[in-house]
Amino acid sequence: MTFRTRTFIAILIASTLALAVSTALTTTWLRKATLADIEASLSRQAALAAELLSDRGALVDPDAEATVLGGLTGTRVTFIRADGVVIGDSSVPDGALAGVDNHLMREEVQEASRSGLGTAVRQSRTTGEETMYTAAVVQRGAVAFVRLGLPLTWIEGRLAMTRRLAWAGLAVGLAAALLLTWATSAWLSRRVRGIAALATRYREGDFSRPTIDFGRDEIGAVARALGETARDLGARLADVARERAHMDAVLQGMVEGAILVDRTGRLLITNPAARTMLGLPDDPGGRPFLEVVRHPGVAAQLTAALTGSRPVPTEVRLDHESRRSYVASAVPVEANREGGAVLVLHDVTELRQADQVRRDFVANVSHELRTPLTAIRGYVEALTDDPPGPDQARAFLKIIARHTARMERLVTDLLTLARLDARQEVLKSEPCQVNTLLESVTSEMDAAITARGLRVVTRLTQGAQVIQGDPAKLHNVFRNLLENAIKYSPEGAEIDIAAVESGNEVEVAVSDRGPGIPDTELSRIFERFYRVDRSRTLDPGGTGLGLAIVKHLVELHGGRVSARNRPDGGACVIVTLPVPNPPGDPDA
Ligand code: ADP
Repeated sequence: MTFRTRTFIAILIASTLALAVSTALTTTWLRKATLADIEASLSRQAALAAELLSDRGALVDPDAEATVLGGLTGTRVTFIRADGVVIGDSSVPDGALAGVDNHLMREEVQEASRSGLGTAVRQSRTTGEETMYTAAVVQRGAVAFVRLGLPLTWIEGRLAMTRRLAWAGLAVGLAAALLLTWATSAWLSRRVRGIAALATRYREGDFSRPTIDFGRDEIGAVARALGETARDLGARLADVARERAHMDAVLQGMVEGAILVDRTGRLLITNPAARTMLGLPDDPGGRPFLEVVRHPGVAAQLTAALTGSRPVPTEVRLDHESRRSYVASAVPVEANREGGAVLVLHDVTELRQADQVRRDFVANVSHELRTPLTAIRGYVEALTDDPPGPDQARAFLKIIARHTARMERLVTDLLTLARLDARQEVLKSEPCQVNTLLESVTSEMDAAITARGLRVVTRLTQGAQVIQGDPAKLHNVFRNLLENAIKYSPEGAEIDIAAVESGNEVEVAVSDRGPGIPDTELSRIFERFYRVDRSRTLDPGGTGLGLAIVKHLVELHGGRVSARNRPDGGACVIVTLPVPNPPGDPDA
């Protein structure tokens, strides 16, 4: 049933009831008031008749007198003797009086004999009509009581008419009420439908202010309250959505893996990093973490946090092939009453590797320094404790000098690397003639080259004449490469230095005919202290830092360095460096 029909029926019932009750009350009151009026009027007339009869003395024809009096008062007049015999009655035909009952025991007569005046309403045995009787005592004469009777049928007729009129009024009133009710309920229904439409709009997420004015009454108040609540809610929803978007952005952008589980251990949030680290499906939300998180260390962290404790972060290897290390740390969620736990996976691979490199470096430095130091101390002790002859002493001092030189080179190389690490090396970049650069390096190493009967052949293509860089640092690069080539070349061999153009770069390759470098070691020779043949560490010539410095210096120039083996034997180290920008280039 619609709101409109319900309102209509309610108002209809209420107005019908109101009209029916008021009609019933009015007619009841009217009947009562009319009867009281009639009773008062009858009493006065009966008293008057009694007074008249009392002065008249004996009556000649009481029945005729009663008829006359009845005609005058418009009532039925009955004369009753003291013994109750009716001696005159205006409604009883002549000669029929003998058949009339004794009236002494009539209610009104009995009351009159007690109080002088008595009234009763009942159906007349003589006329059969509902009649009001009023009897009065006559003080003197043959008539003891005079009784006036007035049929009430006309009153009922009048009341019936009143009722009919009232019902007619009721019908008209109802018709009007019907129309009014219908119009009112239609108006109310339209407004309620308006509010329903408004509520639907809010539910669909449109929280803008309604264009309709809902008025100042209660319905308007409801609409306004609804609007304010909806807008308030809308604002809060927008806040929540914004916060969620921020949180999503943070979680998506995090390199750390993050997992949130509820207190039953079901996954609520997993960020992409966590899914990749743990190999989780794309959308594991809602599944128990024990079902999808296969790693026991991670699961143990979450289980401990779910019991309310703060487990000590542990280092875990999630995938043994990738050799990556993670620190998993879980904490219980205490921000809300829901409980749960948050786990963060932090990739510490680089940290651990850096740590390992640092430790290896310190160990290497210590080792590299101790070797010559031990030798120096041994020879110094030999010279001081048991001084040898001058020739042997000279030989010892030469060895000491060589080890000292090696230590000095080592310290110099370490300082160079430290400056490069700290980015303290400033690049004084300028166009450099490759030929000039290589010639100066070769002539610097001339003694070593000649001593071993080597031959250095330099070839430059047309486009590889000039490179961009710091001449002193590039000199250092090529000196290191040539030193190695000389060191590893067999006596009398040829060393090739070839420079070719490659796009905007120049590739300078230094090749020798030495033993070459095992393929598995090719990338490692640029690491600090890395040597292919560890036994050569005893050779005071090399520090194991030369190629590491080369790599750093080349990269400082924005270039690259790599190594390979020549097909017919020997190593080849290639340095790629930029060419100067052409004149007029804005980047120049
Ligand atoms: P070192 O001072 O020992 O030469 P480097 O850093 O220059 O140190 O070289 C590292 C290692 O690379 C060397 O110990 C050597 O094993 C290898 N290596 C470098 N250049 C050559 C080459 N031309 N031929 C063979 N091995 C080489």
